[in-house]
Amino acid sequence: MTRTFYVNGEYVAENEARISVLDRGFLFADAVYEVTSVLGGRLIDNKNHLIRLQRSLAELSMDSPCSDDEIEAIQEELVRRNDLREGLVYLQVSRGAADRDFGFPDDTTPSLVMFTQEKNLLSSPKAETGLSVITVDDIRWQRRDIKTVGLLAPVLGKQAAKKAGVDDAWMVEDGYVTEGTSNNAYIIDENGVVMTRHLGNEILSGITREAVMKLSDACQVQVIEQPFTPEQAYRAKEAFITSASMFVMPVVSIDGHTIGDGKPGDVTKRLRELYISIARERTDFSDVTS
Ligand code: PMP
Repeated sequence: MTRTFYVNGEYVAENEARISVLDRGFLFADAVYEVTSVLGGRLIDNKNHLIRLQRSLAELSMDSPCSDDEIEAIQEELVRRNDLREGLVYLQVSRGAADRDFGFPDDTTPSLVMFTQEKNLLSSPKAETGLSVITVDDIRWQRRDIKTVGLLAPVLGKQAAKKAGVDDAWMVEDGYVTEGTSNNAYIIDENGVVMTRHLGNEILSGITREAVMKLSDACQVQVIEQPFTPEQAYRAKEAFITSASMFVMPVVSIDGHTIGDGKPGDVTKRLRELYISIARERTDFSDVTS
């Protein structure tokens, strides 16, 4: 079955979805995006994704193509038309199409593109075995808090991981782990304390990260927001990543060092189960309490 895509006001078949060659997303990566997970046909934590979308747009002085309510209505319609039960909705906003010139064009209408992807989010085999990662240099620009489509550094990082026969890469800058190529990174020490880098321009403020902070609080897991080194990670009792497409996913090997006993750790498993159970019954994590 061919998917239905959304392109600038129209629902079209995948092979008819077109965007201008002059679109600034294509020419300059002058575009931002969001990925929202779908469980049981429902968007998970989408309000927070749209808040982050608006922030990304504002940081780049880019107009929003329409209101949040309209964007959400399109996302839901796309889920419906594609009969998506479990997977992702990708959305991208670019500054629009204009003749090639670096400065912002006057009076250009932003482009809005969306599509869905089916994905097994709940019963991923990697949730049972855990991921292996390597570390790579973080060669990205300095505004990683903006979710732009300028993703060549993560592309190269994931490719380096693939070539090394592992699942993903954690990026390192000035001796400290920033985050995963497309996820936030965490380690847990022998006392069960979780450590993850503090927010700032150096990392993306993950929507799943925010939810996991609330869940940790609710189940009395202490989280310290500070940078950690690869060496600290090698000695960790547990490690994991978070993202909208992976939820909470265990990491069992970093640069060939086995983490803990090489199996997903107890705290990680608890956080994953809790995340999934709440995602299945609610649309967001705002009222999670202990
Ligand atoms: N960091 C980076 C660099 C990412 O690309 C992503 C995924 N978009 C994340 C973190 C996780 O963010 P979220 O939990 O909102 O998916």
